[in-house]
Amino acid sequence: MSIEQPGLFGLSETKKLESPEEGREEQSLAYIPFIPGVKPQEAYLELNSLSQLEQRAKSCRQCRLREGCRQVVFGEGNSDARLMLVGEGPGMDEDLQGRPFVGKAGQLLDKILQAAELPRQEVYIGNVVKCRPPGNRLPHPDEVRVCRNYLEAQIRIIKPRILVCLGSLATKAIIDPQVSITMTRGKWFNRQGISIMAVFHPAALLRNPSYKRPTWEDFKQIRDKYYR
Ligand code: SF4
Repeated sequence: MSIEQPGLFGLSETKKLESPEEGREEQSLAYIPFIPGVKPQEAYLELNSLSQLEQRAKSCRQCRLREGCRQVVFGEGNSDARLMLVGEGPGMDEDLQGRPFVGKAGQLLDKILQAAELPRQEVYIGNVVKCRPPGNRLPHPDEVRVCRNYLEAQIRIIKPRILVCLGSLATKAIIDPQVSITMTRGKWFNRQGISIMAVFHPAALLRNPSYKRPTWEDFKQIRDKYYR
């Protein structure tokens, strides 16, 4: 499956904008969201920096997840990252610390990144939903639907060259709701100039060590593309 669309994020760079008001309208009309199903008018197009977006997310109460978590875990890393990794949502440790991938799964991800010579400080790491689902349950579809607007904006602002979906939920949210992680992992997709690959979630590797070998093969591909 290959999804090719002209230009990064579908924004016309040559379009002449008559006035600030018309500009906003034209940009919103011309904008083709990266994530299928996101509506341009909901994609926070007026926010052009990660710090603005983070401020917005930190005061967000658009879904029930905010009621049950300690804090919003927005994401962290290099705002100019060539590689962006997206997981499912914060767990208990992430909720406590306000940082993504800091628990056991995060420590395993750190080891994988280190082995693949992909320094964590050079990449950007985030999640599909920014607030911890109670009891670490899977985020519900309506929660994913509303929170993916932040992810869409993060991708638009960072403009990574490589996007890695960590686990099934991120794969369905970003690549295609119909695909399964086992069928999709390890394959490259291309959308709007960004190479996308799904890999098993590090938490799945902790539960099922037989996933470690294929995941390492996938990260070798990611490393090769990153340094190419
Ligand atoms: S999960 Fe996302 S949409 Fe829901 S309250 Fe948190 S930041 Fe807002």
